[in-house]
Amino acid sequence: MTTQPRRGNRDLIKAMNRNLILNILRGHGPLSRSQLTELSGLSVGAVSQITSALITENWIKEDGEGDYTGGRRQTMLRLNPTAGHVIGIKLMEQRIVTVLTDLETTPLAYLERPLPSAQSPEVVIEGLRGVIDGILAASGVSRSRVVGVGIGLAGVIDYDRGIVHYSPYFHWRDVPLADILSTQIGLPVYIENDVNSLTLTEQLFGAGHEVANFVVVTVGRGIGMGMVFNHQRYQGTRGGAGELGHITVESNGLPCDCGKFGCLEAMAADPAVFRYVEQALAQGIASRVRPPITLQRVVDAAREGDELARSALSRSGRYLGMGLATVINILSPSLIVLSGEGVIAEDYRLQSTMEALHEHTFDGLLDNVRIVVKPADEELWARGAAGLVVGKVFESPLLTPLTQDA
Ligand SMILES: [Zn+2]
Repeated sequence: MTTQPRRGNRDLIKAMNRNLILNILRGHGPLSRSQLTELSGLSVGAVSQITSALITENWIKEDGEGDYTGGRRQTMLRLNPTAGHVIGIKLMEQRIVTVLTDLETTPLAYLERPLPSAQSPEVVIEGLRGVIDGILAASGVSRSRVVGVGIGLAGVIDYDRGIVHYSPYFHWRDVPLADILSTQIGLPVYIENDVNSLTLTEQLFGAGHEVANFVVVTVGRGIGMGMVFNHQRYQGTRGGAGELGHITVESNGLPCDCGKFGCLEAMAADPAVFRYVEQALAQGIASRVRPPITLQRVVDAAREGDELARSALSRSGRYLGMGLATVINILSPSLIVLSGEGVIAEDYRLQSTMEALHEHTFDGLLDNVRIVVKPADEELWARGAAGLVVGKVFESPLLTPLTQDA
C-alpha cells in the first residue's frame, strides 16, 4: 500500500464505507436503502453499489418490506448472521469451553474439555487445537466458513498484539498465543482478557448496546472489570486496566492471590465467602452449610434462613458495594452490568451491595447509574470470546476481505 498510495486510499475509503454500512445495519437494522442513505450520509449510488456487493457476498440480506412510505413499500436490509461462523473459547485453569456461533454470537454448538495439569504454552495450544477440531467435526461446519477464533482468558492480555502479557493461572509471561495458534490452524485468532471480551459482547449485543459509558463487573472466583468510555473499550497500558479486584478495601485484610493484603477480591469474591464460613464452622458456630463448601450450598442455606450463610454473603456484598462505589465515584458510568458465576447469590449478596453503594457513592452520582444483573455461565463467557472476532470484523475496514470465504 505504501508504493501505491492513491490506489490504497481509494480501496481504504471503499472498505470504510462498506464497514459503515455494515455497522449501521448491525446497530439499527433492518433498514431500507433510503434509510441507509440518510443515516450514512453516503450518496444513493454508493449505498446501492455497496449493498448489492454485500448481498452478493452474503453479508447482508433482503428481509421483507417495511412500512408504506411515499406510496410504496421498501425492501428492508439486515445483517445475515449466518454469513460466517465464529469459534469462541473460554480458557480456564483446568478446562476449555468452546462455542461455535453465528455472527450475532448465537451459540450453535458447545464443547467442553479438561486441560492437563502441565500447562506449558505447547500443552495448552494442543488443547486449543483439540477443541477447535472437535467442535468443527461435531457441528459439521467447514473450516472455510469460520471467520476467526476468539479466546478469553484471565490475566493481563495485550489484545492489539495478541500476547499473553501475564497469566496468573498458567504463570506465563509474554506468550504470543494468537500468532502461534493462528499459524497452526490457519485462521485469524484474537485473544483478550476474559472480562474485556464479555464487555465487548455486552457492547455489541447486550445491555451496553449504544451506551457511551458503562462497566461490566464480574464476581466469582475473582473480581474483574471491563470498561467502555465514549463507546470505546478502555484496556489501559498493555491491557492492564480494570483490576478492580485488587483495590484495597481493608488495610491489614486477608491475603490475596496477588500477594498483597486486603484486596477487594480477597474480601468479597466467592473464596472469601467460603473462608468465612469455614472459619466459623471451625469455631463451632451452628450452620446448615456442610463441607465441601460451594457457593450453591451457601446460597441454599441462606434461603433456608441460615444465619452464618446470610452473614457470609452480606459481608461479601458490602465490600463489593464499597468497590463499586469507588468505580462510580471515579468513572460515573450510566450502566453497571454485574455478572459472573457469583451472581447466583442474588439478593443475599446484592442487598448489602446496594446499601454500601448508597453509603459510599458521592451524592448524586448513583442516580445516574442503572445496574443490570446478568448471570454468566461458561457458555456466556465463551460467547464473549466469540464477540472478539465479531467485533474485529466490524471494527476494521481492512478485514472485510474475510468475507470471501463466506
Ligand atoms: Zn489482590
